[in-house]
Amino acid sequence: MVAEKISRRVFLSVVSTVSAVASVGLLAACGGKPKEFSCAADASLKEDEKKVRESVKYVDKSQEPGKKCSNCSQYLKAAAEGQCGGCKVVKGTIHPEGYCTLWTRAS
Ligand code: SF4
Repeated sequence: MVAEKISRRVFLSVVSTVSAVASVGLLAACGGKPKEFSCAADASLKEDEKKVRESVKYVDKSQEPGKKCSNCSQYLKAAAEGQCGGCKVVKGTIHPEGYCTLWTRAS
């Protein structure tokens, strides 16, 4: 009986450990945290395009609650998650978490 209780205790301990390790592994496999990337420096832009970008105060990371490029009506979705998208009015690479003063909610 004692041996059976110990075995059960050991079994539960092993199951608990394996579950914790599997959870950590699954989080890592899913990314857990979105991959960081930048769309701010687009070397292909012409000087006037850079000036427009500056004049509308484009940033890669929105500081406006609820407002970001990915929910803006002008946003052109990236080909894949973790990549820069585009914009109908601001030239160059655009971060989905970015923002500029031309932001308008997508319908
Ligand atoms: S208009 Fe501005 S906020 Fe909207 S997608 Fe283009 S850069 Fe982002």
